[in-house]
Amino acid sequence: MARTKSILTEARQIERAVTLINLGARLQVLESETDLSYERLLRLYKEVAGKSPSKGQLPFSTDWFMTWQPNIHASLFLNMHEYLNKVAALDEIDTVIKAYQLYLEQMQSQGLEPLLSVTRAWRLVKFVDNGMLTMTACSKCGGHFVTHPHEIARHYVCGLCNPPARAGKGKLAGALQLGSSKFDQAHALQAH
Ligand SMILES: [Zn+2]
Repeated sequence: MARTKSILTEARQIERAVTLINLGARLQVLESETDLSYERLLRLYKEVAGKSPSKGQLPFSTDWFMTWQPNIHASLFLNMHEYLNKVAALDEIDTVIKAYQLYLEQMQSQGLEPLLSVTRAWRLVKFVDNGMLTMTACSKCGGHFVTHPHEIARHYVCGLCNPPARAGKGKLAGALQLGSSKFDQAHALQAH
């Protein structure tokens, strides 16, 4: 079936694709979120990134999001995503982009390495959409964290309130912390 595409729609899709490439997205994300052909995306990717995209499947299961530090990063991103979802009338992929940009800003302002890639952030939203992951409030701090859907909220304690024993002081120093004002902001965002 022939599809009529306006130039403006196409321009918008290219703009989105370029933004995603600049954020480090895998080609599969672009294929999923735009109507641009694989060939055009590949050309665009090479032109913007200056290299060929990495090949192969997206390796992610939900497990990564359940590990200690990644869970905190993923939760921070998802709190912002949920907030934007509520207050801003954006297309789905634009909400992911905007929330991810906010996440990067938070990381930069705290001098932390962003553990969550934009491709993982995008996957995370898909996992939440299809019910494989959700957010549960911590029974101690009340913050909302990424969990499996069957988590019992009454007993759930987050990775900030209960860091693993192996986390030494040095590691904690470089980690997102409960007392960090930025994370509290994210908590506050969620509460609204
Ligand atoms: Zn907690």
